[in-house]
Amino acid sequence: MKILVINSGSSSIKFQLLDMSSEQVLASGLVERIGEPMGTVKCTMRPGTEKQSALKRDLPVADHQTGMLLAVELLTDKAQGVVGSRADIGAIGHRVVHGGERFHQPTVIDSAVLAAIRDTVPLAPLHNPANLDGIEVALRLFPGVLQVAVFDTAFHQSIPPRAYLYALPYDWYEHHRIRRYGFHGTSHKYVAGECARLMGKPLARCNLITVHLGNGCSMTAIENGRSIDTTLGMTPLEGLVMGTRSGDIDPAIHVFLHRNLGLDIEEIDRLLNKESGLKGICGYNDMRDIHSAVAAGDRRAALALDVQTYRNRKYIGAFMAVLGRVDGLVFTAGIGENDDQVRSRSVQGLECFGIAIDPERNQRRLNEPRLISTDTSAVQVWVIPTNEELAIARETVALVNPQEPMKET
Ligand code: AMP
Repeated sequence: MKILVINSGSSSIKFQLLDMSSEQVLASGLVERIGEPMGTVKCTMRPGTEKQSALKRDLPVADHQTGMLLAVELLTDKAQGVVGSRADIGAIGHRVVHGGERFHQPTVIDSAVLAAIRDTVPLAPLHNPANLDGIEVALRLFPGVLQVAVFDTAFHQSIPPRAYLYALPYDWYEHHRIRRYGFHGTSHKYVAGECARLMGKPLARCNLITVHLGNGCSMTAIENGRSIDTTLGMTPLEGLVMGTRSGDIDPAIHVFLHRNLGLDIEEIDRLLNKESGLKGICGYNDMRDIHSAVAAGDRRAALALDVQTYRNRKYIGAFMAVLGRVDGLVFTAGIGENDDQVRSRSVQGLECFGIAIDPERNQRRLNEPRLISTDTSAVQVWVIPTNEELAIARETVALVNPQEPMKET
């Protein structure tokens, strides 16, 4: 069965078509700058094979419907396309950022589900409307095709109240749903499943700490396969230091900024989300630029690296205390998969807690899962590339064929 995975943003649509009999990616593409005077649609066909080819068109893309139609045109291109027609697509999986408290697992989309996703818009005003646009367009373009919503928050719905409640007036939780939800759940769940498989143990008996370090960063404590705490909060701003997002700060800083600098709440929101994190400290949000700057003697860049890796270490320690026994620590996403320095600094000094990285294993550059801890490390440390599209496609297949057990991820 061929599954189309759609990640619809406010001005972009990422899409991937997978053949789930082999879990091969047939095509991977992106529609960008939707609604701007000039947009782009590009798609790589049969990536990683001898037959790999690429198609790209620069043209105005008025709205999400036009964008999705253009994506389908590339997928069905007479010369290079990977499917004959839309009818070859068996089901569609949509990434949805926020599922609130309602969605604990991937869900087949119907009108009630659409309404419930709409209901969570106040919790994710930047993301859920764009996800909804993608779903509504796909429902129109693929009538009768089963469509599934896979929520970034769902994996974290097992977090107990002591970890999800903020110490705030309780009716803010009851009436305004203010609590920790956590994000990147599809990624944490996927790498946890892969780690369990690689360790040769059922996920339901594994205690893991998964560390997703990309543009956005988060860490999850997983007990017997279930998320029991995570660093991102009610919104994707809390916790670790990210590319442009602050992570944890004293909430009274908002008041200080307003009273002393005269900033209004919209500006504070923008500054904490777009101008903080690594970028706020040193001007660079890409870790590769930070390493180049450090090598050139930039002290602020060195400080940014120090602040981020210190925060990582602090949360690893906290989650070790939460879990007690830890079987595996997993690094994933752009920085986690590629940056040996960030990895080694994030666990520096934790040997006495049973985490020891082998420097030579850590420095190996491979785009595949690998163990980087020493043979005597009590906690196995893994680098596991995340694959959210594959995870969404597997969840979608599982709902199409509910009688077949889902592949262990
Ligand atoms: P993601 O959000 O998972 O796509 O990760 C994006 C981030 O990964 C970029 O902003 C970079 O900071 C980081 N990144 C990607 N490649 C490398 C690399 N080779 N070394 C260090 N950081 C990297």
